[in-house]
Amino acid sequence: MKDHMHIITLSFDDGFLNSNLKIAEIYEKNNLSACFNIIATGHLNNFKSPDKGQGKIKKGDFKIWNELQKRGHEIMPHGYNHTNKSDVPFEEAQSLILNCLDIFNSELDNFDPLESIFNFPYNSSTPELEEWLLTVVKAFRTSGDAINPLPYKGMKKLTTTGFGPGNCESHLNDHKEKFLNGPPGWFIYNTHGLEDEGWGPIGTDYLDELLKRLTVIETVKILPAGQALKIIL
Ligand SMILES: [Zn+2]
Repeated sequence: MKDHMHIITLSFDDGFLNSNLKIAEIYEKNNLSACFNIIATGHLNNFKSPDKGQGKIKKGDFKIWNELQKRGHEIMPHGYNHTNKSDVPFEEAQSLILNCLDIFNSELDNFDPLESIFNFPYNSSTPELEEWLLTVVKAFRTSGDAINPLPYKGMKKLTTTGFGPGNCESHLNDHKEKFLNGPPGWFIYNTHGLEDEGWGPIGTDYLDELLKRLTVIETVKILPAGQALKIIL
């Protein structure tokens, strides 16, 4: 039956404290694991928000991320300080990514870079970086079609889309419907915070109702990206 599956990943970026605690709670209520992508230095006092989308919204720290991980959620890297990696020289992008992974190594329990998915800030990568990155992580997420093939052995490049800066619910609904009406595959949609937190947010009730509706469809599986990648058909 696995080859009939529609896998859905809502990939929540940036590590907003209040939103992520609420998202975790909603996923748990629906017996699901959420997918959080965290900026390695986002919680530090000297962190400078890279853009308006993040403003002064409070971020969680690794104490929170370890706790959420223990509760079954997935915590993955989303950069050292949210630099757009296609805006800086290759060597600088490389060291930012390595610094990000170093912090994850020392702060996140049981972190293994070679099992991790690097989620490019702004979903912005370069072919050169993508090629190098696969020597240090298992896979990466970058911009492209939200509809990916079902996970296969050696799958490295995950593509995603999103909508902002305003509420992204109707964009997400349209893309999700198109996916569910199409052949089996893996839908990866890039989300951020709840209510007014972050770029392209969704409502708290919307998320709860969406998960409730999707979990009753027998062929739909809602999974964090790392868990989905472990399903090899
Ligand atoms: Zn981000």
